[in-house]
Amino acid sequence: MSQQTLTAETDSAQFSEGPADASTDVLELDGLTQEYGAETAVKDLTLSVRDGELLTLLGPSGCGKTTTLRMIAGLEQPTRGTLTIDGETVASETGCVSPEDRDVGLVFQNFALFPHLSVAENIAFGIDDWDADDREARVDELLELVGLTDHREKMPAQLSGGQQQRVALARSLAPEPDVLLLDEPFSNLDVRLRVEMRQEVREILKATGVTAVSVTHDQEEALSISDRVAIMNDGEIEQVGKPELVFENPKSRFVASFLGRASFVPGRVRGDVVETQLGTLHTDQLNGPIEAYDGARIDVLLRPDDLTAHLEHEDAADGHIVDRQYNGPTFVYTVELTDGTAVRCLHNHVETFEHGQPVRVDIEADHGLAWYPT
Ligand code: ATP
Repeated sequence: MSQQTLTAETDSAQFSEGPADASTDVLELDGLTQEYGAETAVKDLTLSVRDGELLTLLGPSGCGKTTTLRMIAGLEQPTRGTLTIDGETVASETGCVSPEDRDVGLVFQNFALFPHLSVAENIAFGIDDWDADDREARVDELLELVGLTDHREKMPAQLSGGQQQRVALARSLAPEPDVLLLDEPFSNLDVRLRVEMRQEVREILKATGVTAVSVTHDQEEALSISDRVAIMNDGEIEQVGKPELVFENPKSRFVASFLGRASFVPGRVRGDVVETQLGTLHTDQLNGPIEAYDGARIDVLLRPDDLTAHLEHEDAADGHIVDRQYNGPTFVYTVELTDGTAVRCLHNHVETFEHGQPVRVDIEADHGLAWYPT
């Protein structure tokens, strides 16, 4: 039995997402593959996105996120597989519907606003074939939705970065697309604004009920805005699910390492306990059934918020402080354990340790811990 199977069972037991209802899927990718010569950028990708859902493709540079988004938009034809939007097959081995004939909106990294058009004209751009009254009503509605009614006559250069992003969003939403695609939508904003805009963009998308797919390599962004995240690695999806579920129960070491600052602490299963160099854990503290691994070596996933360090005499210490990162309200200390494993401990900003000090490390997790067979 694999850890993957075990955690899948735990997932459904812990957080039921309810039965899958195919009739509510707006976007369906089935065996989607993109090859560039000898290189396979996206491999046999199968994924459904539900009506009104915001799903984020998250993964390291080069894992195939943008290629997937471009295939959904119709900017690239897949080598194999099919793509269905609102029940219509828009890409398959037999043909491909052009981007302008798909009900898909796109928000680019750089917002791509027309500099010579006002805010209202930018928003109206994609609906110039609408009746004039309907068009004006739609622009008014969107200006109100994105909080820019008082800025309708301004030119893009007269707007802040956050306001430009809201115009770009309103422009893409104007034709009421079946699916909205967002390509690294926050990467052009400074860090403070980025955090503010995440919540705002999510609220706007939820208010319209649009089905959306976003792409990012920023895990915090993906976890905070999405209904579900799909973690990609080397052209394939490793895990898809609710952010909290994927974060707390990563099915593979790759997903665990990509989300949060993961350490893997070796342990041995002995009956209903797991012995580690940081103490003994009861198997109840671990995710999923572990009986089949009695006597085996496993690695337990521990993140900074699961661990605390305490000053200790050299003889009884688990390891030594080798690094300290100050983050304002918190410190993250890196402790090198006696076997060379590095673990990180999250502390309040007033709890200070010096480089080289011997410490004991306690596991203080109040949630099930993920583990992987060695
Ligand atoms: P990033 O976060 O850096 O944008 P990504 O996950 O979006 O990365 P893609 O842009 O989808 O990754 O690229 C996936 C792989 O396909 C990469 O190895 C890339 O070099 C390759 N690739 C993408 N477009 C082309 C192309 N037009 N021709 C050849 N190879 C390509």
